[in-house]
Amino acid sequence: MEKIVSLTKRRGYVFQSSEIYGGLNGCWDYGPLGVELLRNLKEEWWRAMTYRNDIEGIDAAILMHPRVWEASGHVENFTDPMVDCKECKARFRADQIEDAMCGNPAYKGKKAHKCASEGKFTEARKFNLMFKTFVGPMEDSTAVVYLRPETAQGIFVNFLNVQAASRQKLPFGIAQIGKAFRNEINTKNFLFRTREFEQMEMQYFVRPGTDMQWFEYWREQRMQWFVELGMRKEKLRWHKHEAHALAHYAKDAYDIEYEFPFDWGEIEGVHNRTDFDLSRHEEFSGKSLKYFDDETKEKYTPFIIETSAGTSRSFMAFLVDAYAEEEAPTADGKMETRVVLKLHPRLAPTKASIFPLVNRDGMPEIAKNIEKELRPHLRVFYDDSGAVGRRYRRQDEAGTPYCITVDSQTLQDQTVTVRDRDTMVQERVAMDKLLEYLRTKLIM
Ligand code: ATP
Repeated sequence: MEKIVSLTKRRGYVFQSSEIYGGLNGCWDYGPLGVELLRNLKEEWWRAMTYRNDIEGIDAAILMHPRVWEASGHVENFTDPMVDCKECKARFRADQIEDAMCGNPAYKGKKAHKCASEGKFTEARKFNLMFKTFVGPMEDSTAVVYLRPETAQGIFVNFLNVQAASRQKLPFGIAQIGKAFRNEINTKNFLFRTREFEQMEMQYFVRPGTDMQWFEYWREQRMQWFVELGMRKEKLRWHKHEAHALAHYAKDAYDIEYEFPFDWGEIEGVHNRTDFDLSRHEEFSGKSLKYFDDETKEKYTPFIIETSAGTSRSFMAFLVDAYAEEEAPTADGKMETRVVLKLHPRLAPTKASIFPLVNRDGMPEIAKNIEKELRPHLRVFYDDSGAVGRRYRRQDEAGTPYCITVDSQTLQDQTVTVRDRDTMVQERVAMDKLLEYLRTKLIM
């Protein structure tokens, strides 16, 4: 994990938030390559979800009416049990003591549960994970609003607006990508548990009685999505929520888990939320959220199947999955270890890098021309500094799937070499066929 965190900083994927001030716990910034990967990831999700007839997109506000969070159960139930160590003052989630390390530098390497067993912990208290703020100039209880802890509620409260505006019939879904905030007691494992993060959520509204069939359908679709974007199957598994661990609203729930270097961890949840959400919003708002079925002339509250992915957690899972260290030959035939990010071409921040082999004989001019022609279609990068072997290694680390080199043969026959990041095999391709070649390879 340390190697990956260091690579992400070195290559400009992720930086610590407010680093020059010592950082802010649980917050991270996406750098130039990170933001491209993040955008590509969201684009893939958006296409998979909304480029179909039965799903509409929305982008709801982060701040919502405070009653929303009463109806959803967050004000009452969105809590973690918290304990403090009376000795070192470190704070822990009571249900995560087993794995936690003592927070006091003086006790470095000491397990927190030892303190717990020695009776140094306070009684567990409920801690609400929602960030509170105020609307308007008065900082009193009537002005309290919350930063949304999930994007789902913005979808539920808009159910009838979207249905009426888009004239959708059940079953249909609403998709949204956006920031969510949770005041996690302990943030850890890089992007895995942060206080500000992004979610990609889709809520699918179905007729009661057909819910389990749709639940199975969405489970399959969502697992498939990760696999199609190159994630190794053996690193993915399902975790079923047992009856006693089911959330108050859920009839059935599964998590997609990825095997991170530290442990298996949830990257997406697929939940059968029943009619809980719409019924509660109906009750709290006093507005009907029932669906009228034109064909059967029935009025009912739909059930909801939710697919809820963490964008930041998926981002990290794709990075971890792509990271490889391999033995590779250098230009003079020796072997060295190369670090390579084998990101799926559709996710890769830069699609192709263009190099003149040397900075003379007209090669830079030809390479610049290629760059100019490809740039409107693909995100490309021009690099003419250092030995070509070093340039390849830099692009391997950045996850760029193709490197195009203009060499002396280019001057004779207008072909260039195209090197594949994963196999390192080089092919000669005619310059005027480059765009077409990359288009098929990048599966655009
Ligand atoms: P966990 O049990 O790990 O706290 P959760 O069950 O509370 O997660 P959900 O409420 O189902 O998570 O949220 C859906 C998705 O949002 C999760 O699968 C995860 O990818 C992402 N997510 C939730 N909390 C965080 C967080 N603190 N940091 C980053 N991503 C998060």
